[in-house]
Amino acid sequence: MNSADITTVKSILSQPQKIAIIPHRNPDGDAMGSCLALYGFLKAKGHTVHVVAPNDYPKFLKWMPGNDTVINFERENPKAKEIIEGASLIFTLDFNDLSRVGQMETSLQEAAADFIMIDHHQQPSDYAKVTYSDVSMSSTCEMVYNFIAFLGETDLIDADMATNLYTGIMTDTGSFKYRSTSSKTHRVVADLIDKGADNMAIHQEVFDTNSPSRLHLLGVALSNMVILPEYKTAYITLTQDELDQYDFKKGDTEGFVNYGLTLEGIIFALIFIENREEGIIKISLRSIGDFSVNEFAREHFNGGGHNNAAGGRSEMSMEDTIAYFNGILKNYKDKLNP
Ligand code: 5GP
Ligand code: MN
Repeated sequence: MNSADITTVKSILSQPQKIAIIPHRNPDGDAMGSCLALYGFLKAKGHTVHVVAPNDYPKFLKWMPGNDTVINFERENPKAKEIIEGASLIFTLDFNDLSRVGQMETSLQEAAADFIMIDHHQQPSDYAKVTYSDVSMSSTCEMVYNFIAFLGETDLIDADMATNLYTGIMTDTGSFKYRSTSSKTHRVVADLIDKGADNMAIHQEVFDTNSPSRLHLLGVALSNMVILPEYKTAYITLTQDELDQYDFKKGDTEGFVNYGLTLEGIIFALIFIENREEGIIKISLRSIGDFSVNEFAREHFNGGGHNNAAGGRSEMSMEDTIAYFNGILKNYKDKLNP
């Protein structure tokens, strides 16, 4: 954020505002963590604040401080719409384009409020009065910490806010191991621990709450894995029938895609998950090194994200999606074998 932006934000926040904070659809730890931390900060500064999530999110995020105050746009639609319509200021966090909020997009487009975007995804759209976009950042949570620091108010970060910010940085960095994890990230995290984030308890809340059915589903996913050494690629499929058989709950497949990358020599991993209700195959893509899954997802699967982590979708059947994928993969042989 440049100094003109900081001045603008300071001036807006010097008056009491009615604020809505919005994460992307299917919010993850970084989206919820950044929204809930910013919620705590803006409340502390005396604003009227609501977090409105486009839809539901996994149980392993529902322990987060402030979770009970989150409004679900799908479930509490009239209330959510009223908040968005009545807002004087809307923060959009952890996404780069209004299409990433699904059904909520029209409400946001029609909103009278000024927008502030805080996000680390590539190619941000230009809809906000203030755009704080930095693709080098580990997470939106690290950026919310910086945002508060730009305003000179890190003293206002309490233990709940620190917990939320820690959670998002931890989940978006694969527990501090991805390339985007910088020494600055660690300095922020150190300060969050000093401010009351209990790192061990947070890890347990997020990662050690497996159900037996989820582990069995992981077993199915791993036995379905197809390895294509000539393309340094591994992919997993999960059909709706398989999900049903193992009592699938939102979030159960989180992290499955990463197993492909733990194979020696594999630099491109995907998971294709059937969602019969939405009539789509949801795709998660991951890579190691310079192969850009953001470009791959944008080009072929109507998606996007970061260089090494992206998502997309297909409206074909699983069988046709895989056939299509195998077809396009042929054109990437050189890029995958640099
Ligand atoms: P995941 O595979 O965990 O759902 O998402 C990986 C990354 O890609 C996240 O940063 C997420 O925000 C982004 N992403 C996931 N799905 C989509 C999509 O359909 N479109 C775009 N533009 N980004 C996505
Ligand atoms: Mn993120």
